[in-house]
Amino acid sequence: MKNKTFPTRLMLLMAVSTLAVISCSDDTTELDAETSLVPQTEVPANQDIQDAEFITKYFMGDAVQVSLEDDGTYSLAGSDARLFEDQLANSPDAYNPNPVPGEELSGLALAGGIRKWTNNTVYYVINGLSSSVKSELQKSFDEWSSKTNVVFKERTNQSNYVTISSSGSNSNSGVATLGMYNSGGYIQLGTRATAVVIIHELGHTLGYIHEQNRSDRDNHIIIKTENIQSNAQDQFYKSTSATFLTGSFDVNSIMMYGSYTFSKNGQPTITDRSGNTLPQRQARLSSLDIQGTNAAYPSTDGGGDNPAPKEEDLCDTASTYASNKAYSVGDYVLYYGRVYQRDYTRWNYIKSCN
Ligand SMILES: [Zn+2]
Repeated sequence: MKNKTFPTRLMLLMAVSTLAVISCSDDTTELDAETSLVPQTEVPANQDIQDAEFITKYFMGDAVQVSLEDDGTYSLAGSDARLFEDQLANSPDAYNPNPVPGEELSGLALAGGIRKWTNNTVYYVINGLSSSVKSELQKSFDEWSSKTNVVFKERTNQSNYVTISSSGSNSNSGVATLGMYNSGGYIQLGTRATAVVIIHELGHTLGYIHEQNRSDRDNHIIIKTENIQSNAQDQFYKSTSATFLTGSFDVNSIMMYGSYTFSKNGQPTITDRSGNTLPQRQARLSSLDIQGTNAAYPSTDGGGDNPAPKEEDLCDTASTYASNKAYSVGDYVLYYGRVYQRDYTRWNYIKSCN
């Protein structure tokens, strides 16, 4: 479409030989993740990050730079993760790291943040994907659902679902909103999107942000700020309070950027502590990705290697809520005769025990 005037092979050579940001005929600017020396990483689609205008908002208590996209969502730090306005806050105080169960009923706990999917099920609608991208999408669904408690189902009449459509970008790229968001959530995929990118975007859909944003990342990697494109610097911010996919830092996480992501000069933007580049991201979840997802989305049917209590037993097995305890996403508590499960920024009511 936008590259009509360029033979694909020529584009490919140009990208590989010059590492250039490719200017397309519709004036959008994109890095081609598949063909440049920025392998196997997602890039923002249909977004000219050179022109992005950033404003400061608070995401789960952290000051972040966000840019307003054409569709009304905000790009988190200029990345492929998209947020709705009410998932962001205007002050750091709006975020409560230790919400009390039941607060969601009074609306007190809704200032910013993201929500996990209920019943471990992500409903989706596919809107106009090519058969090759659809096949990569199916592989990506299978990677998550065969290894974790999460399943992806085509929507029938559910009110919470994501719409998966083409971004129109001629690249292996994608963008995705974070977590469950009524009918508004979406994933947009480039026309050459492959499973390595799509599995990552599905991670955003489940509510995860990028691994290199962990506050402890400097113990494990070196961020080479001098090699990062100026408009992509914010993507390497550190979050003190967001929930990450992995329990401990994992360079193999599907949510981790590659060594050359957003390089401005062909030099690495991320290395390990010894200065070596990281293993190239594969189209599969790491073992910590799997563990983390099964903690955030515990099985309640008693299956799996580490089964959570069955839902009918939760009134007996959930421990009583303690205000001084730090809870993790996926934990169950009993509070005034009701069972709640911890979401990213709130508690979800599960059932009454009376
Ligand atoms: Zn991403």
